[in-house]
Amino acid sequence: MVSFDFAGKVALVTGAGSGMGRSAALAFAQAGAVVVVADRKTAAGEETVSLIDKLGARAHFISVDVSDSKAVASMVDEAADKLGGLHYAFNNAGIDGTSAYAPIADGDEGGWDQVIDINLKGVWLCLKHEIRHMAAHGGGAIVNNASIGGFRGLAGLSPYVASKHGVVGLTRTAAIEYARAGIRVNAVAPGAIKTPMFDRGVSQDPNLSAAIAEAQPMGRVGQPEEVARAVIWLCSDQASYVTGECLSVDGGFLAR
Ligand code: NAD
Repeated sequence: MVSFDFAGKVALVTGAGSGMGRSAALAFAQAGAVVVVADRKTAAGEETVSLIDKLGARAHFISVDVSDSKAVASMVDEAADKLGGLHYAFNNAGIDGTSAYAPIADGDEGGWDQVIDINLKGVWLCLKHEIRHMAAHGGGAIVNNASIGGFRGLAGLSPYVASKHGVVGLTRTAAIEYARAGIRVNAVAPGAIKTPMFDRGVSQDPNLSAAIAEAQPMGRVGQPEEVARAVIWLCSDQASYVTGECLSVDGGFLAR
């Protein structure tokens, strides 16, 4: 079994108050990293910090809206100043935009702006400031949270799909630009994963959760811990020659 040793390292996770972000924050802590728990929801972020405390590891909450340039810049500065560096980042914060769920001709411009601002501009801003720090301090490893929606059309979800295709493109571009600065940039592309976002999406229809599970090649949805393990591997030295990759964690969805 491969074990990970992130002792002495600092890992930043955005959207760490819930779902895959929380699972990844716990996984980084279990691997020995000090974790920066960043989220726009303070109570949820503080809850993740207390879960990490219970593991006997160290975490620090930073309130951030990833679509806010100044807030993202100060998140990276605060993480590095208070915790002694920034070695890994999981740019995970995102929204599904289901309030804007509609075919394109009926789409709502406000919903488009909100999804693109958080899911796409948010990842770009995080990359910009994380890379600024890592390039000046010997490198690091970054993982962005994309989606199967970064590779396939999903009817009714055009802002989300556009944002996640954009995240895949940003991942590849950042990987090429900073490969010689010692910074690896990869992404995960989760399929249907049982998180609060998933639960909200299926809450209107009692049969939808089972139907989605049945539609997956494995016949089930994934768990956030299954994505977190991929994130940890991509950040680790086990993945030392992997950059620009978007790793599907989707029970086989994209293989069809
Ligand atoms: P979630 O809703 O459970 O958690 C998302 C977290 O991000 C929340 O804590 C929320 O407060 C935070 N967040 C949202 N907007 C933010 C902002 N502007 N600034 C800072 N924090 C913000 O969702 P999840 O299912 O864990 O999703 C995490 C990521 O995975 C998202 O990018 C999502 O698009 C992606 N994803 C989810 C699924 C799925 O099936 N759940 C599948 C593929 C990709």
